[in-house]
Amino acid sequence: MTVRLFDNVFEIDLEATKKHERDLLPCECPRCTFFRENVGKLFPEITEILEKFGVDSSSPDEVMSYEEDGTIVFYEVEYSADGKIVEMSRDRCELSTEGLSVGFGNDSSVPGRDDDAIVRISVFGIKMPCSWAESIKTTLIKEPHKREPLKRLAEWLKYRKNGNKHE
Ligand SMILES: [Zn+2]
Repeated sequence: MTVRLFDNVFEIDLEATKKHERDLLPCECPRCTFFRENVGKLFPEITEILEKFGVDSSSPDEVMSYEEDGTIVFYEVEYSADGKIVEMSRDRCELSTEGLSVGFGNDSSVPGRDDDAIVRISVFGIKMPCSWAESIKTTLIKEPHKREPLKRLAEWLKYRKNGNKHE
């Protein structure tokens, strides 16, 4: 399918992209989990762009982040779609949400996949206040049936307290 975005033209295989997405093993660390569970509802602009490529915003290949002044800065989050770049006039584009941008390229470090057959979509500058993660706690205490998220939250708080080791 032809995708046109920011004066760029891509030819994307939606079926293959979906298949690779299903095969992804997500990182289970609390920060990546928090990212996956919230990016869709907090950043609809990103979700909308990725959907054009058949990519789910909650299925990144790689999440790079640090924490600063009560904010988690996801400075680069990488996604991939199966296909190729047909025409590229802008490899980095600012989005309307301040500080956010998206980049396109062919380079890939996805194991077992051919670089030339992959369009790399990188999102830069996503920020999520840590307080959002902690505010979930209040909701979950009121709704104890949500045991699994509560367990994850406990892991998240422990992880923050003990430093942010991320492999
Ligand atoms: Zn992780």
